[in-house]
Amino acid sequence: MSGFDNPFDPDTKLHRAGCSCGRHHSQADHEADMKNEDARVSRVVESAVMRGLFPDDQMRRNFLRAVGAGTAMAAISTLFPMGASKALAAEKGKL
Ligand SMILES: [Zn+2]
Repeated sequence: MSGFDNPFDPDTKLHRAGCSCGRHHSQADHEADMKNEDARVSRVVESAVMRGLFPDDQMRRNFLRAVGAGTAMAAISTLFPMGASKALAAEKGKL
C-alpha cells in the first residue's frame, strides 16, 4: 500500500491490513508462517533426538532403512516424549 491512497475512496484501507504481530501482510500469512515455524521446531527437536540416539549417522540410516520412518518414529516416541519436547521447544522459541 502506498502513501498516496485516496483517503476519500471508500475502498481504501487507511489502516494497514496486517496480522497480530505486525510482521506479516495478513493474518493468513501470519498463520502460515507460524505453522512453518512449528514444523521447523519439530524438525530441530527430531534431529536433536535422533542425533542423541544415533551418534553414528550410518547406524541411524541403517535403522531407518530396516524398520521404516513411521515405525522408527513410533518406537522412539514411546521411549522419548517427542510431543512434550516439541511443546517445550516451541515455548522457549529456541534451542
Ligand atoms: Zn504476524
